[in-house]
Amino acid sequence: MIETQVLSGKIISQNIYDSLALRITTLKNNTITPSLAVVLVGNNPASAVYVRSKEKIFSHLKLHTKTFQLDQDTTELEILQLLDNLNNDQQYHGILVQLPLPEHIDTQNILCSIDPRKDVDGFHPENVGLLSTGHPRYIPCTPKGIIKVLEYANISLHQKHVVVIGRSNIVGRPISILTSLKKENSNGTTTLCHSGTLDINNFTMHADVVIAAIGQPKSITGDMLKSGTVVIDVGINKVHAGNGKSHKLVGDADWDSIQGIAAAATPVPGGIGPMTIAMLVENTVEAAEYSQQG
Ligand code: NDP
Repeated sequence: MIETQVLSGKIISQNIYDSLALRITTLKNNTITPSLAVVLVGNNPASAVYVRSKEKIFSHLKLHTKTFQLDQDTTELEILQLLDNLNNDQQYHGILVQLPLPEHIDTQNILCSIDPRKDVDGFHPENVGLLSTGHPRYIPCTPKGIIKVLEYANISLHQKHVVVIGRSNIVGRPISILTSLKKENSNGTTTLCHSGTLDINNFTMHADVVIAAIGQPKSITGDMLKSGTVVIDVGINKVHAGNGKSHKLVGDADWDSIQGIAAAATPVPGGIGPMTIAMLVENTVEAAEYSQQG
């Protein structure tokens, strides 16, 4: 049995905020306060919680953010008009449209309408293309947070087999690209699994690093891993708590069953969640720095 190291995103994100302080001060000395516009459409409770956590961190770091709350039945044209205004408003360095959008809205059309230089989520096709070709501008926040956790824990991906489970555009696919880039802290051999993969165990059993971004609790159990695997658990799932409380948050991995088998693992909560917000702050600071370059 080995002792499973807990990779705390809470602690690492604090280090990231500390390391951003000098860049923020330099910008402020040049009368620039990094500023983020958040567009929130409708009343999805999880989105509202996520937006509130971002606002709290931005306020704590004395950065500027404004949330544009739109009704559930807002038309696509109205969102496009708002984005046009925000694209042209020098006050905002970054723009983020909180996903998911209501069903009547074409998400891809909206993401394509954000100025790619302000696209701090990194979802615009221009930024996706830059990432895919190994010249990233903005790296999507969750995948960037995963790479930072590995860096801080001194876990190199070079010559390692990385198994990513989940292929969404916001987590699975970009992290599969990042882990396989020929760059320092990447250079892994990556397998991308999804709901069409036959016998996922076959892949996880041979993985050095498993990155789970599925959205289903207990998807990764200890018997699916070889001893010494690193588990990065991206999933956030609400389940019944069973101890008088109504619910609790768990990841995609079965935390108890991977203990003693995984060499290290990110907890849920307190793992990749805080890292995602820290990377949003970092990307917004980057966007403010780009704005100085004209
Ligand atoms: P999506 O629902 O967009 O994608 C889930 C992916 O998992 C899909 O590619 C799907 O396959 C795959 N999948 C579903 N079931 C299985 C299965 N049984 N076996 C293998 N693959 C499966 O989710 P997201 O990528 O947006 O999010 C994933 C999880 O991460 C969620 O719990 C979400 O809440 C969480 N999350 C956490 C963040 C954080 O900051 N910690 C940030 C973003 C997300 P297919 O493509 O075939 O449908």
